Amino acid sequence: MTALAGGVGLLALMTLAYGTVLCRLGERPLLRRIGLGLMFGAGGVAAMLQSVPVAPGVYLDVKAVPVALAAPFGGTLAAFLAAGIVATGRIAVGGAGMLPGVTGILLSGAAGLLMARLVPSVEWRGARPLFLLAPLSALNTLGIFALPWGEALPAFTHGGLPVALFTVAGILMLGTMLARERRRVDTERVLRDAALSDPLTGLANRRAFFGAIDREVAGALRRDAPMSLLLLDIDHFKEVNDARGHDAGDAVLVALSRVLRHGVRQSDLVARFGGEEFAILLPCTSLEGAFLLAERLRCAVRECRVEHDGALLHVTVSIGVSALSADAGRPDTLIKAADMALYRAKSHGRDRVCRDRALCQPEAVPVT
Ligand code: GH3
Ligand code: MG
Ligand code: MG
Repeated sequence: MTALAGGVGLLALMTLAYGTVLCRLGERPLLRRIGLGLMFGAGGVAAMLQSVPVAPGVYLDVKAVPVALAAPFGGTLAAFLAAGIVATGRIAVGGAGMLPGVTGILLSGAAGLLMARLVPSVEWRGARPLFLLAPLSALNTLGIFALPWGEALPAFTHGGLPVALFTVAGILMLGTMLARERRRVDTERVLRDAALSDPLTGLANRRAFFGAIDREVAGALRRDAPMSLLLLDIDHFKEVNDARGHDAGDAVLVALSRVLRHGVRQSDLVARFGGEEFAILLPCTSLEGAFLLAERLRCAVRECRVEHDGALLHVTVSIGVSALSADAGRPDTLIKAADMALYRAKSHGRDRVCRDRALCQPEAVPVT
């Protein structure tokens, strides 16, 4: 009994590993599934180390708990991995109980897979489906009856029944903790995304931009790679708001952010820098490349029409371009240089791109 209770306690430690895998590998689904499969498998093997011998070669333990939970909390691949690892462990131990042991493992894995398929994943955020999975998985103790009847009956009454109860308790306990951990990780992710993104456009916000530019500048300097920055400001945007209303202005901001996002590479970062100002971070891009991109974006915005309340809205942007250099080798100097170039683009008549004067001349480009 003490050993079984220890086994259940050991399974509870898996919660920590579960949260860590979800946090670290949340963005890499295949690695996450493999990681969770290994974790549930290791949990099952650890449970076997706490087994109680009830007859020569026959051991009882709560290895069914992680095996059954692997599918709903780790996915199909994790379930197969976990069941494979635990079954291999049981085969390695051998003895008369090997066949019922492996049968029990497969039954528990099948119960988890069946339940994961029948119950939508959102339901596993709560404890309710566990009340069905737990008794279903505990049925694996019936695997004892694969033994000859004379051995099976005493093995079941002396060990199978307590194991079934501990399996039910273990699944309810560990399952509840895993569900809670998953909710915690999901909530953290939602809060982090909310803190770093602009609610109107969905772009990275100013806070995310400053975090990214620090990282990118440090990386570019380390690798001695080029890096550029664009600052964009919508021309006469106040007039859009004044003439068409704030909602129309918002629609323009949303449409413009889509144009910008689609106009850059995956590795570039488009951020809403302020009200009607955007910043685009361009890793591995020289001043020349950034200038050409800025021109492309300026033309794309110019050609874009935003439909709002039956009217077609149209705006232009002015863009300042700067690049990492000996003079602008820090995030703040890079931003300042782009801001000065943007200021010049505005004062030269708007709807144009200007480059950091310290790096390149001439900077002004005629309006097409
Ligand atoms: P300039 O060409 O010199 O940049 O002129 P401008 O009118 O674009 O610049 P100004 O700074 O005078 O006005 C910016 C306007 O942007 C004023 C403000 O109401 C509007 N704005 C800022 N944030 C938002 C927003 O989230 N939604 C809407 N609809 N308007 C916004
Ligand atoms: Mg502005
Ligand atoms: Mg403006």
